[in-house]
Amino acid sequence: MAHPSTITAHGPTVAEVDLEAFKENVRTFKRLVGNSRLMAVIKTNAYGHGVVPSGEAAVRAGADCLGVTMVEEGAQLRAAGIDVPIHILSSIMSWQAADLVAYDLTASVSSLDLAHALNREAVRQNKAASVHLKIDTGLHRFGIQPEEALDFCRASYELPGLEWEGIYTHFSSADEGEWNTTEKQYASFMNTIATLKKDGYYFPVRHAGASTIAIERRDMYLDMVRCGIALFGYPPEERQDSMISLKPVMGLKSRLLHVHELPPGSPVGYGGSYVTSDYEKIAVVPIGHGDGYHRALSNNGQMLVRGQRAEIIGEVSLDQTLINVTGIPGVSAGDEVVLMGEQQGDYISGREIAGWMDSIVDEVLSGLKERVERIYK
Ligand SMILES: *Cc1c(COP(=O)(O)O)cnc(C)c1O
Repeated sequence: MAHPSTITAHGPTVAEVDLEAFKENVRTFKRLVGNSRLMAVIKTNAYGHGVVPSGEAAVRAGADCLGVTMVEEGAQLRAAGIDVPIHILSSIMSWQAADLVAYDLTASVSSLDLAHALNREAVRQNKAASVHLKIDTGLHRFGIQPEEALDFCRASYELPGLEWEGIYTHFSSADEGEWNTTEKQYASFMNTIATLKKDGYYFPVRHAGASTIAIERRDMYLDMVRCGIALFGYPPEERQDSMISLKPVMGLKSRLLHVHELPPGSPVGYGGSYVTSDYEKIAVVPIGHGDGYHRALSNNGQMLVRGQRAEIIGEVSLDQTLINVTGIPGVSAGDEVVLMGEQQGDYISGREIAGWMDSIVDEVLSGLKERVERIYK
């Protein structure tokens, strides 16, 4: 039997990505960081916004380079024709060195094994691998310990295939505003740089700060600032909302699939964790934890319908979520429902959803699966 090669209409659940808002945020940070470079961090599929459209928009808006964590993401950006430096902000397996060099990505180096693997590949491909030395000042994820940096440079700095373009660290507690810890980490980083320089190991591009530093600590900008979540419209912490004006980039919308009324005492959803206490109107929204709309929102969140807040009731299931639309005049199947964004003057932000989930906005945005169609504005 012959079938059409494509469907004629998509389902109602969509994530709207406002690339103009994104570009405006990038320009805001570009102005803020002044003479320092701006890296647009677009890891994790650009925090859920789509790595290629976000990468293209970031470059158009003036980002000097891009940061991702996977070689695959870097390769996708290169395939899309992006030619600014693309940093891999994670360690990689040595077998990924060939691709990293082939796609002209910039590596984070924190082990001799990786330095040697990159060097071998660079020599084999007749290229120079651009590398940044990662110093671990306290996050303890990966990086060379400050007291081991000198030995590390003695063993790797002269490898002919490596071009040591930069050195960096990443703070553990800047978002939390723990400035004592952050200042100690910064001092440790600067001491390491000075020690290395004394012995002739020089790194032109020094960087340490992410969004929080960009917003709050000009004194730690150094040569480059790496901004991620804030470019998507959310400063990492609520205290920063008053310090900078940003535009949320993502909205999440759907439509009511079905509306029905239940009598008092009716259990609703898997396990019946919600029971109606009166005649209640229940609506079905076609999104669930399989889409990245978290199960933590079960009986614990809201959506906007006809400008009013409707409570999520029962357990969020894989593909569907139920809301209580009792008392919303005229409510009916097909009505628009806003899960994140504005409707008739009310607004649900990613940060509010994160609060319901006891999480951070990064998880709300980046958790949204690819099966939720992105619509770019
Ligand atoms: C994710 C990440 C960033 C960006 O952090 P935000 O707080 O989202 O701005 C910067 N640097 C590194 C190394 C990262 O992993």
